[in-house]
Amino acid sequence: MKILVAGGGGFIGGHLVKYYLEQGAEVVVADVKAVDAWHQRHEAAENLCLDLRDLAACQRACVGVDRVFNLACDMGGMGFIEGNKALCMLSVLINTHLLKASVEAKVQRYFFASTACVYRADKQAEPGNPGLKETDVYPAMPEDGYGWEKLFSERMCRHFDEDFGLETRIARFHNVYGPQGTWDGGREKAPAAICRKVIHAKLSGEHEIEIWGDGEQTRSFMFIEDGVFGSDLIMNASEGGALNLGSDQLVSINQLVDAVEAVAGVRLERRYRLDAPLGVRGRSSDNSLIESRLGWSPAIDLEAGIEKTYRWIYQQMKAGY
Ligand code: NAD
Repeated sequence: MKILVAGGGGFIGGHLVKYYLEQGAEVVVADVKAVDAWHQRHEAAENLCLDLRDLAACQRACVGVDRVFNLACDMGGMGFIEGNKALCMLSVLINTHLLKASVEAKVQRYFFASTACVYRADKQAEPGNPGLKETDVYPAMPEDGYGWEKLFSERMCRHFDEDFGLETRIARFHNVYGPQGTWDGGREKAPAAICRKVIHAKLSGEHEIEIWGDGEQTRSFMFIEDGVFGSDLIMNASEGGALNLGSDQLVSINQLVDAVEAVAGVRLERRYRLDAPLGVRGRSSDNSLIESRLGWSPAIDLEAGIEKTYRWIYQQMKAGY
C-alpha cells in the first residue's frame, strides 16, 4: 500500500505519516513548506516539497499511489481564517487538482479533511447548543471563506466518486490539538494558544492572561491520537459520505483555561478581549453517526490531552526564557 499524505508537513499530517509508517505502509509526503520547516520529518517516507495548487505538482505526488489523504490547506485558528478569506478559498485549487491527478493515476481511495466550519451558523448561536449532526449543513450557511471552500470541496469529492469512480471519504474535523502542532505565529488554535499564554505567564512571572471574547463561548477539542485513529477508520470505511470526527465534550473557553491552569499549577488574572475574532458562539460534535457506523468515539479526555500538549509546548518555550 502506497499512501500520499498531502499537507504531511503540517500538524495532523505529520502524525498520520508516523502512524502509517509504523503500520508498514510506503508513504509519500508532500507539502509546500520547505522540508526543514515541517512539524515532523520522517526519513522513512519520501518527502517532497511541492505546491499542490499546481496540477503538475499533484500529478508528481500521485505517481504509483493507492490512497491519498488530502490535508493540505492554507489555514489556522479563528484569528487567521477571519482575516484571510481569499487565501482560505484558494485551497480549492489543491483539492481540485489533487482529485484530478488521483483519477489520472488510478488512485483507489481519497480522503478529504473537512471541518466543523461547514455547519450552518444559525445552529451555533448559543453556548449550550446540542452537538452538530452531519445533516446540520444545509441549507448552507457555513463560515465565510474557509467554510465555504471546504463545503464546495466536499461536494466536489462526492461528484468525483459518482462520476469518475474515485472512492472518496470525508472527515469533518472538530478542533484537533496535541503535541507537534502550531503554537505561535498567528495560525495556532485555542488549546495551543492558551497553553502558550499560561506558560508565558508562568515563566515570566506576569500573572495574567488575555482571553478572546468573554470566555463563555463553547467548543469541543479532540486529541490528535483520536483524530489519527478516526481518520484511518474513515478511510477504510465501506461507505462514503461526510462524518464528524471530533469530541462531544462541550467546554467553554474559560473551562479550557481552567484545565491548562490545573496542569501548570497556576491561577491567572483573566483579561477578556471582546473585540477579538470569535467565530460561532457554541459548537460541538454529535458523534452518533460515526459511533454507529464505525464504532469510533474519542478515548482521550480533555485533561489527559491538555497535559501532554502543555508539556510539549513547555519544552519548546523554556529555552527562550
Ligand atoms: P496544518 O496547517 O498544520 O497543515 C496543513 C499543511 O498544508 C501545512 O503544512 C501547509 O504547509 C500545507 N499546505 C498549505 N498549502 C499547501 C500547498 N499549496 N501545497 C502543499 N501543501 C500545502 O493544519 P492541520 O491542523 O494539520 O490540518 C490539516 C487539515 O485538517 C486541513 O485541511 C484543515 O483544514 C483540516 N482541519 C483541521 C482542524 C484542526 O483543528 N487542526 C480542524 C478542522 C479541519
